[in-house]
Amino acid sequence: MTAPVAATQPNDIAATAQIEKRPLERYVAPAKPSLIGLSRMALAEVFGAAGVPERQRRMRVQQVWHWLYVRGAQDFDAMTTLSKELRVELARRFTLARPEIAAEQVSVDGTRKWLLRLPGEVAGRPHEVECVYIPETDRGTLCISSQVGCTLNCSFCHTGTQRLVRNLTPGEIVGQVVLARDRLADWTPAHSAAAAEPEKRLISNVVMMGMGEPLYNFEAVRDGLGVVGDGDGLSISKRRITLSTSGVVPNIARAGAEIGVMLAVSLHAVTDELRNELVPLNRKYPLRELLDACRNYPGLSNARRITFEYVMLKGVNDSLADARALLRLIKGIPAKINLIPFNPWPGSRYECSDWEQIEKFSEVVFNAGYASPVRTPRGRDILAACGQLKSATEKLSARERLALRAMVMTD
Ligand code: SAH
Ligand code: SF4
Repeated sequence: MTAPVAATQPNDIAATAQIEKRPLERYVAPAKPSLIGLSRMALAEVFGAAGVPERQRRMRVQQVWHWLYVRGAQDFDAMTTLSKELRVELARRFTLARPEIAAEQVSVDGTRKWLLRLPGEVAGRPHEVECVYIPETDRGTLCISSQVGCTLNCSFCHTGTQRLVRNLTPGEIVGQVVLARDRLADWTPAHSAAAAEPEKRLISNVVMMGMGEPLYNFEAVRDGLGVVGDGDGLSISKRRITLSTSGVVPNIARAGAEIGVMLAVSLHAVTDELRNELVPLNRKYPLRELLDACRNYPGLSNARRITFEYVMLKGVNDSLADARALLRLIKGIPAKINLIPFNPWPGSRYECSDWEQIEKFSEVVFNAGYASPVRTPRGRDILAACGQLKSATEKLSARERLALRAMVMTD
């Protein structure tokens, strides 16, 4: 079994000030749209509307892209390669706003968690999602959300019990990466060579394993991750971005063709009978169809494997016979298996498997030649406090704890 990797985040970063929770009443939805997350084509249109002649637009887009995604500009005035008039015109119509950080917590192990507020349908009632940064020895992973809540009702998942659901926009998806770079001071300073060495950044990897089912917000996820992966900007290569799906089969092939990031599939069970109960979407797209879609995912090789996530539920899916059946199911698919200790939540009907059982399960998988890291829960200290992030009077506070628990894990 792969040993948990220790955090080695420098203390100075872990020690920087946290942000106390801001009162909900202070939330004001932005009056103007943000440029963050717009495609190059949309930016060219912005310049067109601002009176920039067509022949100059490409260059202007390239300049703004650099300010937004390499230098992390938070103010139009910083964009010194643009004329003063153009900066004023842009500022008149747009902002560079990221999602509002309502609170920030830093764990002793360097894990950082942000509570974010996004405009809601009702004025003064913003939505809240979380975004988590997990430092490890050889990488730093940012876990981002794709939806507020989730329409699927996986029986072990807290997010699925949340009533309110809305899709995040591409700007809100990209904005999570941008604000994390702001808070970690992870931008490229002027005249630095760091841009050429993206792996030296604090945020080297992105996983879409936060709230929501990304393949039910396909276009926004595709467009947002396109910006995150853009080599002239945020530059997190597609090989370092992983999208986790519960198994929206028709969109898996589409994700391969149109998004091209690494795929993680929440398998969790080896029979349709059990998977129907754990992941009800299985009734629509049963195991055979799901595994066929995985087999056909483009570009798979030993260096590009699918990650199968498997939550360890005591006495439910954790027998060694299950482990062997799992191996038979995924035979022939270049794969990794991620065993996730179940994170209980108030009212959940499952328990986490015993540690010895997880180890035995992992050994069967490992002996068959698969890497089978057990995800180490991270940021436990701030997790304990996460219920305090939101006020007790907010209906969703308990439910959203699940999202945090699911998020503060890495492979
Ligand atoms: N909706 C997507 C991505 C978000 S969930 C999906 O289901 O894949 C990210 C991962 O956390 C999934 O593998 C999910 O099954 C798992 N998860 C959800 N609730 C959990 C819990 N209480 N304990 C452990 N893992 C959980
Ligand atoms: Fe949604 Fe994923 Fe939770 Fe299932 S596990 S309810 S798909 S967020």
